[in-house]
Amino acid sequence: MRDDEIIGLVVGLVALVVVVTVYTGLIVLGVNIAKRKNRSPHWMWFAIHPLGLIITLIVMASLSPLKRCPNCAQTSPGQARLCGFCGYDYTTGSFMPQQQPVYMPPPRY
Ligand SMILES: [Zn+2]
Repeated sequence: MRDDEIIGLVVGLVALVVVVTVYTGLIVLGVNIAKRKNRSPHWMWFAIHPLGLIITLIVMASLSPLKRCPNCAQTSPGQARLCGFCGYDYTTGSFMPQQQPVYMPPPRY
């Protein structure tokens, strides 16, 4: 091999390593953003395609964060005051049980 071929090979390998490192770093960044916002990190599977990586990163960065209910582990919008699934009150931290139907005896005639 000539010297300029070896230099070209080394430069190409370094460029490949840099591209793979940046690509993986952007995927890790997207997963971290998703976890911070209580969104599913599995959305980053779209990043298999470079265009999917760009689109998913932009969407993930612009999505509003979700709250995770400490009582039932369901997610609600960030500005929610009550959990829509179990009635947990985010502001007071107390649990508001769902209203039970009141038993009404059938009327006697
Ligand atoms: Zn809940």
